[in-house]
Amino acid sequence: MDHFQLKNGELHAEDVPMSRIAEEFGTPVYVYSRATLERHARVFREALTPLGKIHLAFAVKSNPNLAVLRVMQREGFGADVVSGGELARALAAGMPASDIVFSGVGKTTREMMQGLDVGIGQFNIESEEEGVELARIADAAGRTAHCALRVNPDIDAGTHEKISTGKSDNKFGVPIDQAAGMYARLSALPGLDMRGLAVHIGSQLSDLAPLEEAFAKVGALMADIRAAGFTVTHVDLGGGLGVPYKAGEVMPSPAEYGAMVARATKGWDVTLMFEPGRVIAGNAGVLLTEVIRVKRNANRDPFVIVDAAMNDLARPALYGAWHDFDAVEPTGQRMTANIVGPICETGDTFAMGREMDALEAGDLAVFRTAGAYGATMASSYNSRGFVAEVMVDGDRVASVADRILPEDIYAAERVPEWLD
Ligand SMILES: *Cc1c(COP(=O)(O)O)cnc(C)c1O
Repeated sequence: MDHFQLKNGELHAEDVPMSRIAEEFGTPVYVYSRATLERHARVFREALTPLGKIHLAFAVKSNPNLAVLRVMQREGFGADVVSGGELARALAAGMPASDIVFSGVGKTTREMMQGLDVGIGQFNIESEEEGVELARIADAAGRTAHCALRVNPDIDAGTHEKISTGKSDNKFGVPIDQAAGMYARLSALPGLDMRGLAVHIGSQLSDLAPLEEAFAKVGALMADIRAAGFTVTHVDLGGGLGVPYKAGEVMPSPAEYGAMVARATKGWDVTLMFEPGRVIAGNAGVLLTEVIRVKRNANRDPFVIVDAAMNDLARPALYGAWHDFDAVEPTGQRMTANIVGPICETGDTFAMGREMDALEAGDLAVFRTAGAYGATMASSYNSRGFVAEVMVDGDRVASVADRILPEDIYAAERVPEWLD
């Protein structure tokens, strides 16, 4: 459920008409709904509360906007970060360092130091090499790094190949059959507090079975590690829950996910950690755009050219992803069209042959389910600048990220004097 609904014939974000947002902030612009973010955060928490000791860490990479992070912080979520930049953002948004988990295969020495300095809650180690380096740095600094070992369970999550992370040929985690030995070796290192295991097999998962299979493998590994005399007090089950991108599409609900986790982790006696991203933020945002013009050609579908492009919303170009596309003021008329942006790439295509609301130049429309992996993947390709973001709260709307203009970007560029 989200708060982007038609009222009096016009699409609103909560109580704010889209036309007002377009007028005040221009287009294209990402529009987030605070009420939707909060609702998703609460539904997710409620589904997991019966599990006992839980830790919720919002996957910052899905939507790192400071205002979004602040909403999550107010909901009691910590953060799952994958870079020093995300760590800085989570802290800037007011998340306690102890609630921050640092994932990622390529943490640099500097990033490890940064995490140790602020005292983050957990490092999810993705290789023995990384663990050895972290131990050395932590020991030298007189600190202790609380760690989980991320395992790769070699399971096909059944999602798009570019967002699968749990197959043995993916770069993530350590092979699960070598994990017990590694855990033992890392536990012996000064500077490390090996306290748990982590797993994350991919994103936009539409089926719980691969997750359940992965959790069963982690459970068996945990038993082996404990039998060898080592301690496991935390298991991080990652994120990955899918969201409906098409009207009518059905995805596993947080409640079904919670029930599966309860089944899979029965008797584990650990703090269960979660890293949801898309399931919280996806349907809490839309990308509002204006039709520049409709280009009609003989014998084929027209091109609806919108002022948003692949640099603003990369998912269709990157993964062939579907985003529902709706007129802000639908007339009831329909058309079949190709939806494209202005960028000089054929890949700048949001949809081909889409059956959609009839639109003309100057009309407003939205790409739905753009709150996760939307603005955060934006680039300035074609010197289009960075898209603006706003958040709605009831009848209030505020800029939460100003548009960055092309001239702001090239202000950081230099022409060396020897080119004068
Ligand atoms: C991307 C990512 C997540 C979040 O995935 P969603 O599908 O958005 O829930 C969680 N954990 C890790 C380690 C990730 O890389």
